[in-house]
Amino acid sequence: TQYVYRFGGGISEGNQEKTLLGGKGANLDGMASIGLPVPPGFTISTPMCARYYEEGEAFPAELNPQVADGIAHIEGITGKKFGDPADPLLVSVRSGARVSMPGMMDTVLNLGLNDVTVQGLSATSGDARFAWDSYRRFIQMYADVVLGLDHGAFEEALEIAKEDKGVTLDTELTAANLEALVVEYLRLVEELWGKPFPQDVHAQLWGAVGAVFGSWQSERAKVYRRINSIPHDWGTAVNVQAMVFGNMGETSATGVAFTRDPANGERAYYGEYLINAQGEDVVAGIRTPQYLTTAARERAKAKPLSMQESMPEVYAELARVFDLLELHYRDMQDIEFTVERGKLWMLQTRSGKRTARAALKIAVDMASEGLITQEEAVMRVEPASLDQLLHPTLDPKAARDVLVKGLPASPGAATGAAVFDSDTAERRAALGESVILVRTETSPEDIHGMHAAKGILTARGGMTSHAAVVARGMGRPCVSGAGSLSIDAKAKTAKVGARVISEGDIITLDGSSGEVMVGAVATVQPELSGDFGTLMVWADGARRMKVRANAETPADAKVAREFGAEGVGLCRTEHMFFEASRITAVREMILAEDEAGRRVALAKLLPEQRADFLGIFEVMAGLPVTIRLLDPPLHEFLPTAEADFEDVAKAAGVAVEVLKRRTVELHEFNPMLGHRGCRLGVTYPEIYEMQARAIFEAACDLEVSPIPEVMVPLVATRRELELMKEVIDRTAEAVFAERGKRIEYLVGTMIELPRAALMAGQIAEVGQFFSFGTNDLTQTTLGVSRDDASRFLTTYVEKGIYATDPFVSLDVEGVGELIALAAERGRTARPDIKLGICGEHGGDPASIAFCESVGLDYVSASPYRVPIARLAAAQAAL
Ligand code: ADP
Ligand code: MG
Ligand code: MG
Repeated sequence: TQYVYRFGGGISEGNQEKTLLGGKGANLDGMASIGLPVPPGFTISTPMCARYYEEGEAFPAELNPQVADGIAHIEGITGKKFGDPADPLLVSVRSGARVSMPGMMDTVLNLGLNDVTVQGLSATSGDARFAWDSYRRFIQMYADVVLGLDHGAFEEALEIAKEDKGVTLDTELTAANLEALVVEYLRLVEELWGKPFPQDVHAQLWGAVGAVFGSWQSERAKVYRRINSIPHDWGTAVNVQAMVFGNMGETSATGVAFTRDPANGERAYYGEYLINAQGEDVVAGIRTPQYLTTAARERAKAKPLSMQESMPEVYAELARVFDLLELHYRDMQDIEFTVERGKLWMLQTRSGKRTARAALKIAVDMASEGLITQEEAVMRVEPASLDQLLHPTLDPKAARDVLVKGLPASPGAATGAAVFDSDTAERRAALGESVILVRTETSPEDIHGMHAAKGILTARGGMTSHAAVVARGMGRPCVSGAGSLSIDAKAKTAKVGARVISEGDIITLDGSSGEVMVGAVATVQPELSGDFGTLMVWADGARRMKVRANAETPADAKVAREFGAEGVGLCRTEHMFFEASRITAVREMILAEDEAGRRVALAKLLPEQRADFLGIFEVMAGLPVTIRLLDPPLHEFLPTAEADFEDVAKAAGVAVEVLKRRTVELHEFNPMLGHRGCRLGVTYPEIYEMQARAIFEAACDLEVSPIPEVMVPLVATRRELELMKEVIDRTAEAVFAERGKRIEYLVGTMIELPRAALMAGQIAEVGQFFSFGTNDLTQTTLGVSRDDASRFLTTYVEKGIYATDPFVSLDVEGVGELIALAAERGRTARPDIKLGICGEHGGDPASIAFCESVGLDYVSASPYRVPIARLAAAQAAL
């Protein structure tokens, strides 16, 4: 089997195959194929990762000659030999999964150096300082990544060396200083590892390749995969590539860049670079990087020269490469480059992570530029990410007590309690608290804390630092590089001058301006920008399914309309009963001894309920509104605390004993499967009769009425629905007669029990529509109570029993099968039956794709998820 694919020097063997080469390898191959300057190398394909684990973390013999060929390929092009004392070839060994997992996995640079080859490198480069700097970097990385030694010890040794010489920057250390540091590093390795540092370059190579495969199973990589739903069996590829050096003095540099602004999507090159630096230096925030473009430097009022100013020719070449890359990949690219003595080398490209706002703008712009089609633009925006745009931003008119200003690294506003480490962030967030993670700089180990936090603040690092990149990808607001902030993670404080923020203090970040405020700041609803509207129009043109909202107040209904809802898919009525003004009448009804007593209480509720509907109907004039009749068990309306019994009994006009007795009578062992849903309507038809009356009276009272769709919950049999439909139809006729006016309406049911799904053919003979109540249908099909699932569901997902939480994303295989079957049987019995979904899943893009595949007529989601559902429905249809 071929496991090794070569690239560079006019060769690109892997056909840009991502599944085989991983993202990084595929794009190195791609850049080589269009003639860009890529240091030559080879990729060990992802299937080898699985093979490596199958072999008990060892390599099969057949890999050896293939790797040897790969090395020979690099040697041939560079004219250097791996391990050659006179003119050694150095390589990097880089990870690269199918999708990018920034900073999650390991890389080793400068591999091939040892006590002998370092002399050769020094001689051929004519730069002893550079040679020793490369060697000490290599030992440090190899010790950390491959040998698993504590990197703190090495950093400390470097700090001590700098202190001894009285310098602050790594670049100020001389060749002799660095040579001495190497001696110290080698001693440290021997002390911590118990063996001398490997001098054999082939042993170094295999060690590094094994470490990269090993990093696939590191804790942080696993966490990242879980958060981002990346399958654990994909594995990573390994890229071995000739080193190029950005640390060869003042004409050398390294940098990262985006072809467009990843924060707001503007069509402007965006990036940072550092002169005389290597690899990770820019991202790690050790030195403050300089701007790529002069425009950005001037906007930031920064002094250090931009790359455009300091290296105009290389910059021009880079700009040409950017344009070629956008043409080739037809998307905004995130790039790593290195300049070695004035020559540009491309080290990486990938589709850049971006904020939702940038994603929208870039998609719409690229379609307008003719680079992609409108359909592609619709496909380019992650529906779930729109969430970021729909939430409040800071009120520009609100007072701000500005503590410090940093870089606007990821837009949006966030308010929360300051915390100084990721574990605390995760712990406090799990208790429902909003937290802001405050760090000097973040590293891949902070991924769980960043995920848990509402926002991220760092004292160091630029616009392309780890914190900034990850925050933009996660949609978290971020302010980075707030340099005047001095953070003491141990003491859990952050100081700016005399002001001190301690753990738990509330702070607010404005990720769009870089300002950090003490306390909370008022927020406003965002204006939905022109690009948003444009993309939505394109999406609406592409989708087949309608999108409705779940709404039970006029305010919700209004928001839903503004977000483009085409009706209400679920109006729950029980919440209306909980309101203080009516709970007493509800209780009177429950406590009544007979039907006559219940009717007296229901008569009091009728005008209230009618008013509820009137408000929603007005907003939804002319549109369908699905109203679900009373669903929860009655005891939910009774008090639970003994202390309240007396007051409640008095208000309802009964003796305390009666209340106590009824509470005991209504007690259920398993209320979810108890006396609820249409079972209430079957036993007390007068309840549904009152609700039906309220619906029809409200609809008749309006000049333009909506189309009420009266929904009977928890039906399992045809007969149940038949009985309830009789009550509803009879009430409708009575109201129409009284008002001298008829309106159009439907009667249907929720499909939320497996029996109902199976008997859908019979039920459809009576019901005019089905709405799949996937919350209950998931509970009843899986036999899992949603409220009790948290104790084991995470473990179930971790062990791969369910791919994702089935209450968040529909269990397409099981619950989906019931839906498909019910839809088909329902349609056979009643060809014009209306089919929709109203569970939480109605706002989940993956579930929406499923709804499209079984031909539902509409999905219904909470108001804020309506735009998400519109876009997801369009993507599903394309
Ligand atoms: P990550 O996925 O964490 O970015 P990379 O494999 O891209 O890891 O490498 C880390 C850093 O090392 C990057 O800045 C990259 O540009 C740099 N680097 C990788 N390979 C080489 C090379 N052959 N020559 C010079 N720099 C390199
Ligand atoms: Mg990289
Ligand atoms: Mg239900």
